[in-house]
Amino acid sequence: MYEKLEMWIDGEWCQGSDGAGEDVVNPATEEVIGHLPHASSADLDRALDAADRGFKVWRAMSAYDRANIIYKAGALIRERADDIGRTLTLEQGKVLAEGKGEVLVAADIFQWYAEEGRRAYGRIIPSRIPGSRQMVIREPVGPVAAFTPWNFPAVTPARKIAGALGSGCSCIIKASEETPGTTIAMARALADAGLPPGVLNVVFGVPDTISRHLIASPVIRKVTFTGSTPVGKHLTRLAADGMKRTTMELGGHAPVVVFDDVDVDKVAAVAAAGKFRNAGQVCVSPTRFFVHEKVYSAFVQKFTEKAAALQLGNGLDAGSTMGPLANRRRVEAVDGFVTDARDHGARVTTGGERVGNQGYFYAPTVLADVPDSARIMSEEPFGPLAPMQPWSNFDDMIEKANGLPFGLAAYAFTTSTEKATLISDALETGLVGVNHCAISFAETPFGGVKESGYGHEGGIEGLDAYLTSKFVTQLSA
Ligand code: NAD
Repeated sequence: MYEKLEMWIDGEWCQGSDGAGEDVVNPATEEVIGHLPHASSADLDRALDAADRGFKVWRAMSAYDRANIIYKAGALIRERADDIGRTLTLEQGKVLAEGKGEVLVAADIFQWYAEEGRRAYGRIIPSRIPGSRQMVIREPVGPVAAFTPWNFPAVTPARKIAGALGSGCSCIIKASEETPGTTIAMARALADAGLPPGVLNVVFGVPDTISRHLIASPVIRKVTFTGSTPVGKHLTRLAADGMKRTTMELGGHAPVVVFDDVDVDKVAAVAAAGKFRNAGQVCVSPTRFFVHEKVYSAFVQKFTEKAAALQLGNGLDAGSTMGPLANRRRVEAVDGFVTDARDHGARVTTGGERVGNQGYFYAPTVLADVPDSARIMSEEPFGPLAPMQPWSNFDDMIEKANGLPFGLAAYAFTTSTEKATLISDALETGLVGVNHCAISFAETPFGGVKESGYGHEGGIEGLDAYLTSKFVTQLSA
């Protein structure tokens, strides 16, 4: 059973007031699995009004009481992980183990922010004026407008909702219209945990119409977005008109630097697992493989074996280890990258084609000897494609690795501590994974530099993103 698709405005589950909406499609079968309501302009105004009132109620509650509600919601999401995970796989396509795993991570994020929200400490600054006390007080920034994409339907909304609520802010979220059920299911957990009306509102619609309406409202004090760099820039411009704070988690194109001292078998297995998770539709996916020339051929061969061994299939089927792409746009985009790389002389060592004629399946693909001129070396592929190049000179390789406008994640593999330090210092990214790809946890900061965005989610930085500092100086009367 798929989730019942509704919006949540001012504590009430509802359809859109003007009857507009769109179908939600299962990417493994192309079947329509539900019909999603869209918010009218009047619905958005109702959500804004509710978020304004909800903020006043929520910020007036103690951090302790707020934490109990968010923590309980996290526990409910964990309890319901089988059902929510299935919803996630139905609407997004990733294999069930990943879908359920993602929901459990989302539960963890809610519970971590519940706890951390109780530690939004200020400070006392020694005063130079006798008899005065100087305090810095941390306050929630205000109602938040959050926009999330389709690749992580549980974790990305969880980061934004839990960060906002944990800091004492209210929130209006427009999750992806392609994967709405997971956010709705998490909102139901918050409702069941006793979240007061209006503290969280969930709306859907035409993305640009919704974001323009919400960001233009004086009620909204903070904008947070995860998605592509062009859309992030557009939303940042809209936010600038109202001097609103933003957090932007945008595109990446992660270099993977493999040194000549590694155990090739082991590294190929770790890197392939990182690459093909969620069929490569991950902003921190390893995407440009720079492999030392001494181990290049062996690495390409081992990595190709790992890719070819994946079982492509419906995410709900027990044997599947990689699901379909999330939508038709990705199939076309991914195929375009492969054709272009081939045209530029790259070798396809496995995959390189769409699989079947129903569902958005694309074979895990390895592209060897990809020249810099191929489009995939500069544009984010966002799919199951692994382009590879050999390197011999460290400085030249680093220049290439840092040579794009992106700076989200990077990976390096070496058995030398000296090289590990050298490379993690040299890479211009917000996240660096050395000898593994696990770079995102509730308690660690996640965010990019350059055109990959700014601000962080996760860690104490993730709470900070929703807080302002108020300076109070008090002189004895
Ligand atoms: P897109 O760039 O139009 O949309 C990306 C996301 O932003 C979608 O969820 C969409 O609903 C949302 N969006 C688009 N316009 C918006 C607006 N004006 N206001 C609010 N939200 C808006 O296209 P797409 O086909 O969905 O994705 C294309 C590319 O986006 C991918 O190739 C990838 O590079 C990037 N992307 C990145 C992430 C990420 O996690 N950073 C997630 C999804 C997509």
